[in-house]
Amino acid sequence: MKTDIEIALEADMKPIEEIAGQLNLDRDDWEPYGHYKAKLSDQLLNKLSDRPSGKIILTTSINPTPAGEGKSTVTVGLGQALNQLDQKAVIALREPSLGPTMGIKGGACGGGYSQVVPMDEINLHFTGDIHAITTANNALSAFIDNHIHQGNELNIDPRRIEWKRALDINDRALREVVVGLGGPVKGIPREDQFTITVASEIMAVLCLASGLQDLKSRLSRMVVAYTFDRKPVTVEQLGYEGALTLLLKDAMKPNLVQTLENTPAVIHGGPFANIAHGCNSLMATQIASKLGDYVVTESGFGADLGAEKFLDIKTRAGGFEPDAVVVVATIRALKMHGGVNKKELEAENLAALEKGMENLKKHIETIEQFNLPYVVAVNQFPKDTEAETEFLLDWCKQEGAPVSLVKVFAEGGSGGIHLAKQVMEACESKQGSLQYTYDLDDSIEVKIEKIVTKVYGGEAVEFSSKAQKQLKQFEELGYGQLPICMAKTQYSLSDDPTALGRPQGFTITVQELRASVGAGFLVALTGDVMTMPGLPKKPAALNMDVTEEGVIKGLF
Ligand code: ADP
Repeated sequence: MKTDIEIALEADMKPIEEIAGQLNLDRDDWEPYGHYKAKLSDQLLNKLSDRPSGKIILTTSINPTPAGEGKSTVTVGLGQALNQLDQKAVIALREPSLGPTMGIKGGACGGGYSQVVPMDEINLHFTGDIHAITTANNALSAFIDNHIHQGNELNIDPRRIEWKRALDINDRALREVVVGLGGPVKGIPREDQFTITVASEIMAVLCLASGLQDLKSRLSRMVVAYTFDRKPVTVEQLGYEGALTLLLKDAMKPNLVQTLENTPAVIHGGPFANIAHGCNSLMATQIASKLGDYVVTESGFGADLGAEKFLDIKTRAGGFEPDAVVVVATIRALKMHGGVNKKELEAENLAALEKGMENLKKHIETIEQFNLPYVVAVNQFPKDTEAETEFLLDWCKQEGAPVSLVKVFAEGGSGGIHLAKQVMEACESKQGSLQYTYDLDDSIEVKIEKIVTKVYGGEAVEFSSKAQKQLKQFEELGYGQLPICMAKTQYSLSDDPTALGRPQGFTITVQELRASVGAGFLVALTGDVMTMPGLPKKPAALNMDVTEEGVIKGLF
C-alpha cells in the first residue's frame, strides 16, 4: 500500500470555495488561505446561533500503546462514511504540533484513505495559528521580565514566575534555562523553562474561548507569577490582555479544509491531553455542529484522559453534550495490554487478546457511567488474523457492546459504512443527559478522588505535602469551583506507565497542582509529566526531504 503522504499528494481536492459552498456559507463567512484552506469568520457562530445543532460524535480509544490505535484515522473515515450515506457530516480535529511531527509520533491528519488534506501543509505550518500562540506566549514572558527590569512595581518574586517560554519543537536542552545573564542592562537573571507550545495555557485558553471577548477575559485572568508575599499576579494586573488578544485575533478563527473524499473538516487548536484538555477548539466543534447534521470530533489519548476532559471540562465550558461516543481499539494494542511486546505483535495470540480486553472493558464502563451510547470501532490492521477478529467481535456481542469492524484506513469512507449506521442508531438511542464525573461544588480533593476511582478504577489518591498546601491555597484564592485537568501518563489507567491492561487496587499520587485560571481548570500533576518532550535517537525529521521537483518525502 502507498504511504500516507503518497496518498495525500494524489488527493483530488476541491477548491476551498466549493467546500464552503457545500456548507452553504456566504462569501463573508470565510476568507481563503491559499487554494485549499480557509479561515472561518469568528462571527460565524453568532450568526448561526439560531440554527439547530447537529449530533456530536466523540471519538476516543483504549489506553494508547506504541502499536497505534488510529483515532484520527477512524474520525476522518467515519465522517467520510456518513457523507457516503448522504448525511451532512463535518469533522472537527486538532491542529498537529510540530514537536511530534518532527519527533516520533507522526502527524495528526489520519492515515491511509482517511486523511485530511492538504496533509503536508496541515502538519507543517498550516495557517500559522500555533506560531501565533508561540509568539503571544513569548511576548508575555518578555512583558514579565521587562516589568521586573523596569522596577517591579507588582513585587513579583522572580523565583515564583509560573509563566514559561514556549517553542513548538521537541527540545530537551530548553527544559531548564537561565535568562537575563550579562549584567544590569540585560535584565534580572532568573531560572526559566520552556514548554512545547501546545502545552502553553494560551493554547488551552484559545480552545475554550467562546469568542474574541471571552478570549480576552480568559487571557486577563491567567496567573503568571506570585509576589514575594505569595499573592497571584495576573495578566490583567500587568495590563497586556489587549496586546495578547491582538496577537491572537486571526489564530482565533477556525480553519476549514477537506478530507480525501471532500468531506468538510474544521481544524482548530491542539492542546496537550495531559497538562491541558486535549481537544480541538470549542468554536470549531460548535461551528461544525451548526453546519452539519453530524459532527465527528476526537479527544487525545485514551478515554481516561481525553474523553474524561472532553466530557467534564469542554462540554461544561460550551454548554453542550455529545450524542454518541466511538471507542477505537485495535487487536494489536489489545494484545499489548495483554502482555505481548511490540516485536511479537504480528503473531496470532488469542490468550493475550483475551487478557487485554480488560482495558477495553474499563473504558466501555466509563462511557456507560457518563450515560452516553457508544460503539466500539475495531480499526483493522493488515496482520490481524481471522480468529482474533472473530474473538473480538464475539466478545463485544457477549458483553452487549455495539461493535463494528472498520476498514477506513484501507478503503476510505466505504470501509466505515457499518460503523456510520451503528453510530447513527446510537445517537437516536441516547436517553437522559450526560452524567459528569463530579460536581463543580465538590472540593478539589473530592473531584480528584472521583476521577481516580470512577474513571481510572483506582483505590485512592495521595497528595504530596506540596499538593496539600496548594489544595488549601487554591480553595482560599477562590479557585475551588474549577474543574480538574489530570496530568497523568496516557499509557496506563494508573500513574505507572508500565501497568498496562486493567491495573487494580492502585493509588494515584498527586505531586503538584497548577492553576490554569484563564483556561478555567486546575491541573493535578501525577508522576513526571513532561511539558517539553525530547527527540528520539532517530527523529522522524531524518526521513524528510523535498526533491528538486518540489515533491515532499518522508511525511509518513
Ligand atoms: P491516533 O489518532 O490514535 O494517534 P492516528 O489515526 O494518527 O492515531 O494513526 C496513527 C498511525 O497509525 C498513522 O500513521 C496511521 O497512518 C496509522 N494507522 C492508523 N490506522 C491504521 C490501519 N488500520 N492500518 C495501518 N496503519 C494505520
